[in-house]
Amino acid sequence: MTAQELKEKLKEEDIRKLLIEMGATFYYEDDDMWITDTICHHGTKPKLYYYKDSMSFHCYTECGQLDIIGVVMGYKDYEQEEFQKAINWICIKLNLDNCEYGFGKQEQISDWEFIRKYKKSSKKEAKEKPLVPYDKSVLNIFQKMYTDEWIKEGISIETMEKYNILYSTWQQKIIIPHFDVNNQLIGVRGRSLIDEDIELFGKYTPFKVGRRFYNHSLGMNLFGLNHNLKAIQKKRKIMLVEAEKSVFQTDTMFGEDNFTVALCGSNLTDYQKGMILMLGVREVIIALDKQYETIDSDECKKWAKHIKDKIVDKLSPFVTVSVLWDTNDLLEYKDSPTDRGKETLLQLMENKIYVGTNQ
Ligand SMILES: [Zn+2]
Repeated sequence: MTAQELKEKLKEEDIRKLLIEMGATFYYEDDDMWITDTICHHGTKPKLYYYKDSMSFHCYTECGQLDIIGVVMGYKDYEQEEFQKAINWICIKLNLDNCEYGFGKQEQISDWEFIRKYKKSSKKEAKEKPLVPYDKSVLNIFQKMYTDEWIKEGISIETMEKYNILYSTWQQKIIIPHFDVNNQLIGVRGRSLIDEDIELFGKYTPFKVGRRFYNHSLGMNLFGLNHNLKAIQKKRKIMLVEAEKSVFQTDTMFGEDNFTVALCGSNLTDYQKGMILMLGVREVIIALDKQYETIDSDECKKWAKHIKDKIVDKLSPFVTVSVLWDTNDLLEYKDSPTDRGKETLLQLMENKIYVGTNQ
């Protein structure tokens, strides 16, 4: 049995059983989706979404798009090449026949064939699934209203107009349309202003109109590139931030000279890496949120390692990479480098740390 065959066998209730087996809590359920805690990386926030339609998962904190095998691998801490262990685990939990046998001692060679096939097909999937643009008219149902909250955080109305920021009065959400480099609408995210919602689902959630989700694979885009492409190519450098908001703040600070794009997460996907290299930049500045309280903490070391593994190492063979690191305590815990105004950001940029090239 291949991974694909296994996945085809699994029914909704099997997936539910496996999630429960992994100790997941169901925070939300409807006809289209479930939301559970992020068991995929031993997290506790309810940010692992399961979309029934595509039978796929999306972890909105760390892991991105996953299938059930990926979720199990994360939960069991299996390495990439150990995915057959995850398949065995699933088979045992669901009493599916023959699995252990197929992956057991019997035929080593076919195991390896299978791994190659699995790797190839998962890659192909990502490539063959281009983002289908949405109809922009869906945005007409929202209002052009700009909340004080963001103005206070250093985002001008001009910027919000430029980026088509809208407001949903009935959901009390700031609406953030995502456009690709060709100005096609590829997704919509909502930023909740209701505290209970934020606590439960996090600040940002994919947006739903009727039964339809306006979500997209965030890793298939660099948010803000449609506006900042010229500045990036002229300066031959690019600054990577985590969230859309940082792109808006830097737009208010630098306008036409803004060379910032958001990863919409804290990992660099292969797709994003490819896009950055195609831009022909010489330098990539990494400006992620300050996920540590003090610079000598384990939390800080762990965060530094994460940035190195997930971003720096992927880029440093090709371009100069520097990192904004808050050594002078200019930022609060969880702040983005763009949160404390232009002066602070410029100071951080002046003291950026070059991590150089690997080769
Ligand atoms: Zn995860």
